[in-house]
Amino acid sequence: MSRARVLLLNAALGPLDYRVPYGMTVEPGSIVLAPLGPRQLAGVVWEAERMPSDAEVGDNRLRPLLSAYDLPPIAAPLRRLIEWTANYYLSPPAAVLRMALSSASALDGNKTIVEYRPTGEVPPRLTPQRAQALERIAGRQGLVRELALAADVSDAVIRGLVKAGAIETIEVRVDDPFAVPDPGHAPPILSEEQTQAAGSLTESVRARAFAPILLDGVTGSGKTEVYFEAVAEAIRQRRQTLVLLPEIALTEPFLTRFAARFGCAPVAWHSDLRQTQRRRAWRAIASGEALVTVGARSALFLPYRDLGLIVVDEAHETSFKQEEGVMYHARDVAVMRGQFEGIPVVLASATPAIETRQQVAAGRYAELKLPGRYGVAEMPEIEALDLTLDPPPRGRWLAPRLVAAMSETLEKGEQALLFLNRRGYAPLTLCRTCGHRFQCPNCTAWMVEHRLLARLACHHCGHVMPPPRLCPECGEEDSLVACGPGVERIADEVAALFPEARTAIVTSDTIWSPAKAAEFVARMEAHAIDIVVGTQLVTKGYHFPNLTLVGVVDADLGLSGGDLRAAERSFQQIAQVAGRAGRGAKPGRVLVQTREPKAPVIRALISGDAESFYEAETDSRRHAGAPPFGRYAAIIVSSEKLEEAVETARSIGRTAPEVEGMHVYGPAPAPLAMLRGRHRQRLLVHARRALDVQDVIRDWLGALEWPRGVRVAVDVDPYSFL
Ligand code: ADP
Ligand code: ZN
Repeated sequence: MSRARVLLLNAALGPLDYRVPYGMTVEPGSIVLAPLGPRQLAGVVWEAERMPSDAEVGDNRLRPLLSAYDLPPIAAPLRRLIEWTANYYLSPPAAVLRMALSSASALDGNKTIVEYRPTGEVPPRLTPQRAQALERIAGRQGLVRELALAADVSDAVIRGLVKAGAIETIEVRVDDPFAVPDPGHAPPILSEEQTQAAGSLTESVRARAFAPILLDGVTGSGKTEVYFEAVAEAIRQRRQTLVLLPEIALTEPFLTRFAARFGCAPVAWHSDLRQTQRRRAWRAIASGEALVTVGARSALFLPYRDLGLIVVDEAHETSFKQEEGVMYHARDVAVMRGQFEGIPVVLASATPAIETRQQVAAGRYAELKLPGRYGVAEMPEIEALDLTLDPPPRGRWLAPRLVAAMSETLEKGEQALLFLNRRGYAPLTLCRTCGHRFQCPNCTAWMVEHRLLARLACHHCGHVMPPPRLCPECGEEDSLVACGPGVERIADEVAALFPEARTAIVTSDTIWSPAKAAEFVARMEAHAIDIVVGTQLVTKGYHFPNLTLVGVVDADLGLSGGDLRAAERSFQQIAQVAGRAGRGAKPGRVLVQTREPKAPVIRALISGDAESFYEAETDSRRHAGAPPFGRYAAIIVSSEKLEEAVETARSIGRTAPEVEGMHVYGPAPAPLAMLRGRHRQRLLVHARRALDVQDVIRDWLGALEWPRGVRVAVDVDPYSFL
């Protein structure tokens, strides 16, 4: 090949052609370095017929490639996946490619890197900046830049500390091999049900063919143990496994559990990795050495050399949907990757998504069921607690019966969990005198009080401010009141009720890294915590045998708002959090506070009749032609200038093509009408399932132009309707 089409790592560019210089050999998938103007960019050689280029350049005017990296080429199945993803989610292929080549330093050859870590010495001259740096980087290690970021100081402060002897350098060999998991290390003795399901999964791994499988088992039924058997089979065959988790906070407990079963930890991939760790993991994945990788959704596009199995754990979780950049759904793309690779994909869940259940019903996915909990553990007793009949005292949020159940639990030396899906102290702050409400200056959203941080914060853009002493509207002093509860306020109530009890708040504010999650798990296991107050972060994955009481503080919260999946999500969330109770020998109890005990969601939870709830939900989706029976795509138009956003959205609305089986709603201001300082308008495209709606939208938007400051994003199969 003397000419090569190259997809460069720049989302603004289409593929470009280059000359392959004499002596260099490349093939489709080769990772190369190419000149672009005065710069050099990495890219991947692609089949020209699959990646049309607008810029046809004659042979004699082509610039030569600079070099080819000494790395295995991006294999054909991953190239097909990248094309499919770009096409389906209407994104530039280069933006998808970037998720595969997601470690810039991994492309370079073997080397050692110098990292930095605190020595524990206190420097003679301790400026406030230095003190802050040392406090925040205690126990950390990384590049100067990484430490500076973690400490929120400049690089110079870190360098100064190195000179002063408070930080030392260490050489890290970045490509040390990973330990090889041993499938025979500590296999469990499976129950009969588990043995059957595991046998079926290992059979699929051996078959080396595409097979999407729903592993549907109640919480605590041993889904993890069962899919570990499939992982063991893949390891025996020296093929790679990817396990996707919905939340990076879950990786740490997973690593420990995996190590107990296989004798060593798997390779972890998530956003909290240091650059050197990221590089090492990427290279091991690309060489095939990393036999098992566990990660958040970004692990899905990595260049596994010989993938044999994908597991999506807690597959119903909506956090698998990415809401920025390439707006893909990792569960759906995982299934596509399985199809291109020709391997089984296991979706594990106690509360599968309606979309997944429908695939089973249509015969496209296989289903394996684990109907009972493992061993002596029983499913917990779930009761509704009607707040209209048994209300909490004024200004409090926990009803007397829940409080009584908590004290019984504490007396028995057991642990309790209160679930409320709201971070912070209070969702709304207002002035008692004039009624002024604190709104984010950049978003259509209230500022949320965080008492632990002594801040008001916007949960959408991150804007923070200290709580003002004077009302900015009427000038009244100390007149601000908190409205409604967040987890911090519940924790205050708990502290007042049970002053002796040790309480922990678990939210993304307190558990922001895998290490923090590990610390929490260790404290729970050592029974250094009696009562956990947490958001959805505590609903999944964790296994605490001594946790016997779960209180759902506000079961009606998730049902407000007109979201298509509100009822389903609410059901899943409460079923998941209920599933944390009574996972060991001691029976569990769940109290669900609600004002609507007759609502179908609550009734289904209490009766344990998930089936009829799912059926009713599925029917109503079918009637509405909503997913999975029809399709949606959202078009979000945003601009710093309101007029531009409105005008562009209108012209998109006006030019909507007439297509049979497709209807366009809007434009209308988005519920989050302003986000990060940008005004937002939404259109919603509703189409029948068989319609290639992406094709229609591509042609439609492709024919339009809009001002430079306007952004038009298409969200295919949207999960957020804000
Ligand atoms: P799920 O993923 O379905 O919620 P897990 O796999 O976490 O369930 O299992 C729940 C608990 O039961 C875990 O502590 C697990 O180790 C234990 N367990 C499940 N099956 C077995 C088994 N066959 N032998 C020993 N322990 C088991
Ligand atoms: Zn904001």
